[in-house]
Amino acid sequence: MGKQSTKRSQRVLLIPGPFQGHITPMLELGTTLHSKGFSITVAHTIFNSPNPSNHPDFVFLPLSDNLSGADISSRSLIALMKTINTNCQVPLRESLAQIMENPEPYDQVVCIIYDTIMPFAEAVANHLQLPSIILRTNSVSATIAYESLPRLQAAGYIPLQDYMLQDLVPGLQPLRFKDLPISKFGTLKESLEMIADISHIGTSSAIIWNSVDCLEPSALAQLKQHSQVPLFTIGPLHKMAPASSTSLIREDTNCTAWLDKQAPDSVIYVSLGSLALMDEKELAETAWGLANSGQPFLWVVRPGSVHGSEWIENLPEGFKEAIEQKGHIVKWAPQREVLSHGAVGVFWSHCGWNSTLESICEGVPMICKPYSGDQKVNARYLTEVWKVGLPLEGVLERGEIERAIRRLLVDKEGEEMRQRATDMREKLKLSLKRDGSSNNSLNDLTEFILSLQLPK
Ligand code: UDP
Repeated sequence: MGKQSTKRSQRVLLIPGPFQGHITPMLELGTTLHSKGFSITVAHTIFNSPNPSNHPDFVFLPLSDNLSGADISSRSLIALMKTINTNCQVPLRESLAQIMENPEPYDQVVCIIYDTIMPFAEAVANHLQLPSIILRTNSVSATIAYESLPRLQAAGYIPLQDYMLQDLVPGLQPLRFKDLPISKFGTLKESLEMIADISHIGTSSAIIWNSVDCLEPSALAQLKQHSQVPLFTIGPLHKMAPASSTSLIREDTNCTAWLDKQAPDSVIYVSLGSLALMDEKELAETAWGLANSGQPFLWVVRPGSVHGSEWIENLPEGFKEAIEQKGHIVKWAPQREVLSHGAVGVFWSHCGWNSTLESICEGVPMICKPYSGDQKVNARYLTEVWKVGLPLEGVLERGEIERAIRRLLVDKEGEEMRQRATDMREKLKLSLKRDGSSNNSLNDLTEFILSLQLPK
């Protein structure tokens, strides 16, 4: 990605959603736009604040989110997002109005780019007559599925009934009803309300996607057909932007020394991202499935992710002795480094969109066990469309886990899947090259931002 000479006096204000899977792509977008000559301000909640010292080129603007301990510990992330959207509107409007009136020492803000889950920013932009652009941190296919939910509800398919879960959704193949992106982080009503909020484009002028044309060509064509605003697919953003840490949790880098001691393509890396949860029964089945597979594994168990446990104190008796040196458990891994390590042969993932992109960018086939929301759509694409993943469906069971690991790491099926994953990696690399689709789209986005009209 070469530097392009744009006027340094253009500042873009970024508003990331306050979760790991949202903060990372937004900061990477910031790095990408900075390399195109824009100045960057990041307006963020105090809750899950990014670390400014990792981004010395950016200005950080904390917004008083006024969250209580109860808000933060609530199981309903949807309710939490609602509170953030209510509480942050005035702080953002006031800080921005001040900056716009008195831009020194800052450059003039020319537009706001906000995460879809922060729609309050659109109201603020509108109030201040600033152009705004949406960043979608999920896939294009997941967006189509989200936007179909009101239609499916009106047609009586939602709430979903058990007997229909395996059926294909009319108009959304290859998705089955069980793959619809309904969230576990709130009630069905809350989930549908949130989807209505985030589907509302309002006065925003464009949508940016952390996706790639060659990954979802038909979904993109479908969306372009009825979109009233330009769409820019400029992913995978982690490959577009030079690496700088965006992690909210301290990464345990010792695991790379452990990986160095393992044979090529032999290790199963297990991580369920930053939000997914499991119960103690699932912890035990996972532990025995990994141990019984006989393959080395690197397992991320996030503190607090197992109901009733602080960390791994409730691992089944005899497990540690059974695995000896074969397994390594950490609280949080440098995931991208891990996935690019030659020893890693399979990624068992919850299929968050960042994890999905990170895995296919390294040509690592996946075991797909989605937890909530759009992860179910991603898992279906990984297993049925791109054919670089095996599904783990239903109740977690050690025998199933062991079989899936062996199919991927020992059997011929795994070799074929790895070959397809490698082919995909090469295609994605091309999209980032000069004249590649994402690179072209980024240049178009740069021109688009420069052409936006500011208030007089
Ligand atoms: N991640 C990480 N270390 C871990 C687990 C996850 O750095 O041990 C990062 C991962 O690389 C990805 C992000 O956390 O960029 C998770 O985002 P994703 O969209 O996959 O899932 P979410 O956490 O939003 O469910």
